[in-house]
Amino acid sequence: MNKATNTAINAKNVLGLNDSHIHYFNEALGIHKDMVAAFLQLQRAAAKDGFDLKIASGYRSFAKQLAIFNAKLADDRPVLDLNNQPVDVANLSASEKINSILLFSALPGGSRHHWGTDIDIYDPNLLAGKALQLEPWEYQAQGPFVPLTQWLDENMALFGFYRPYDKYRGGVAIEPWHISYQPIASLYTEQLSIDLLHDCIQQSDILEKAEILVMLDSIYQRFIINVGTP
Ligand SMILES: [Zn+2]
Repeated sequence: MNKATNTAINAKNVLGLNDSHIHYFNEALGIHKDMVAAFLQLQRAAAKDGFDLKIASGYRSFAKQLAIFNAKLADDRPVLDLNNQPVDVANLSASEKINSILLFSALPGGSRHHWGTDIDIYDPNLLAGKALQLEPWEYQAQGPFVPLTQWLDENMALFGFYRPYDKYRGGVAIEPWHISYQPIASLYTEQLSIDLLHDCIQQSDILEKAEILVMLDSIYQRFIINVGTP
């Protein structure tokens, strides 16, 4: 396992407001600088066992997460429930709407994708031409990624990776595709306080800001720190 980060962490990195901690593979895909070696080792080990491990989503900025979150609050983008069914957000109170969105979309500033330590992974060869959905069934039961899930279960810890959303804990839904690089993610977890998040939301253009600030303690407990451990 690699040692912890060499790159200094500042509050803007934690909140996705600055990408100085990110190494970009291309314009659309970046991960934490100090995780590149570990990820490439994981990818190489997977390749040896016949998997083409690819990243569907790595670093995501605050601005990008804000656009997703605001679109869901404005009912411009579908909100799904635990059974993958669309939620009629128009009939919900502000707090119900916010809790429904948080099942699958992190609060801007509170996303682990801001850190660059967390990635959504898949193997294009296992899709047999079908489009990637990033939905639990693809990774479970008879889904195409079951062999990849099993391989990760057996091997990813050797390289420092684990699943923070390995099961539903009453907060974020199960996300079998989302893996986290523990040596660095743990440092970012320590830095992400409610106060930091509060100031960030306060200064942002998020919709339903007043309601979100009222709910912030519960959002932090239920959706941000309520995750699995390595
Ligand atoms: Zn993810």
